[in-house]
Amino acid sequence: MHDKDLTPQEFEQLANKFTKFIRKYFEELPEKPPLAQVEPGFVKKQIGEAFPEKGGNLNTVFDELEKIILPATTHWNHPRFMAYFNSTSTAPGILGEYLAAALNTNEMLWKTAPSSTELEETVLNWFRQMLGISDKFFPILYDTASVSSLHALAAAREFHFPGKVREEGIRALPPVAIYISEEAHSSIEKAVITLGLGLNSIRKIKTNENFSMKPDELHKAILQDEANGITPLAVVATVGTTSTTAIDPVRELAKIIEEKKIWLHVDAAYAGSAAVVPKVQAIITDAWETADSIVVNPHKWLFTPIDFSVLFVKHREILKSAFSIVPEYLKTNENNEVINYMDYGIQLGRRFRSLKFWLTLKYFGREGLAEVIRRHLRLAKKFELFIKNSDEFELLAPVNFSVVVFRAVLRSIEKSRLNEFNKQLLEEINRSGKIYLSHTVVKGKYALRLAISGVRTFEEDVEIAKNVIIKAYKQLQENKNLTK
Ligand SMILES: *Cc1c(COP(=O)(O)O)cnc(C)c1O
Repeated sequence: MHDKDLTPQEFEQLANKFTKFIRKYFEELPEKPPLAQVEPGFVKKQIGEAFPEKGGNLNTVFDELEKIILPATTHWNHPRFMAYFNSTSTAPGILGEYLAAALNTNEMLWKTAPSSTELEETVLNWFRQMLGISDKFFPILYDTASVSSLHALAAAREFHFPGKVREEGIRALPPVAIYISEEAHSSIEKAVITLGLGLNSIRKIKTNENFSMKPDELHKAILQDEANGITPLAVVATVGTTSTTAIDPVRELAKIIEEKKIWLHVDAAYAGSAAVVPKVQAIITDAWETADSIVVNPHKWLFTPIDFSVLFVKHREILKSAFSIVPEYLKTNENNEVINYMDYGIQLGRRFRSLKFWLTLKYFGREGLAEVIRRHLRLAKKFELFIKNSDEFELLAPVNFSVVVFRAVLRSIEKSRLNEFNKQLLEEINRSGKIYLSHTVVKGKYALRLAISGVRTFEEDVEIAKNVIIKAYKQLQENKNLTK
């Protein structure tokens, strides 16, 4: 039994063992399957239902980590994890997490965490400048893009109806509408559910052949709502959609609503990070200055351990008036000269999240981060070329960033069975244990998605991916011929 924490000296000894474990994990990572090859229940069964009554020596935990936890881990850090938007951590970020837990500050108020508050303010403003966003925007840190967008839409609601929902609740509002493209992320719908606005207030605007929102369709929808006495509350433009990385035309959308009082939120959770590359910045951030809020996730494509999402808000005071409540026991003398982050969101307690990003930026610098992203963009172009030049595969969406959306084609089977074939192909590929891809459906077509956004992903990994995909295709094709 232990009724005291480890001594600092014991801490160091144990920490060294964990460090060794992590070293081995990273050394062996490329040989492990990126997708966990276990059945549901694998971990629960082995860890057991009985809680530790007596406590004990943590030296025994390495065996369980090795035999139970690692095999049941889908390795997002793996060089050939190419599913979803691969997000990877690096040493500086890992060490930042370690420090944050050690210091264990609670950033409710400046006073309860001066270092955390001011470091957060500083590194987020560094990041703002790296992306080319002006100081009209106030950056704030949340855990995920889902939560950032929730806060943005809460601010939009406050912007239209100051104090209304705060005081009287959602029933005091007239009907409202929120416009997103049919390719927008589900987190916007979740935010609308949470804010009590109802999914019926969502307008899914049609997209063009490149999967980006059609401005004239948006215009029509807004006019129709206005004619029906419905208040257009917000437009959400996505820069880098989750399915195909499509880019909504922010400039044109902004033009449509420039004379109107409508909040413009830009969801650039994934693609926003690529704005650290000077040549790409203009494409990504075009007309962002017209937006009211923007979300970018460094935990997605800037090699910072999850979770780390930045919301840039042009109207800091509106966000504050949506959330701020200061009870007597949290009033402090400095309230007017400092940021008390508890005023800008749902959470009171906030952890020292900025440490990991600070160390990441100090180690890589903007230049280093940009170089990794340039490599990803190059590798994606190369894989795109492979798909374009092959008879067995076809491209299903433009390659705007580092994701290639494609599918297998097969002359010997009817078109209607291609979806089934591609589904099986994906399973075959992932069964290889060499790479991990995910899927999407574009205009009714089942598609494979190969995403290159991991910091450990290099040319040889994309070559391996190609070979695995070709091999799986051939195997499946042979099986099809046999069963005919
Ligand atoms: C991944 C993603 C999100 C959600 O991100 P979380 O941080 O997991 O909430 C939202 N929008 C877009 C465009 C995304 O790609």
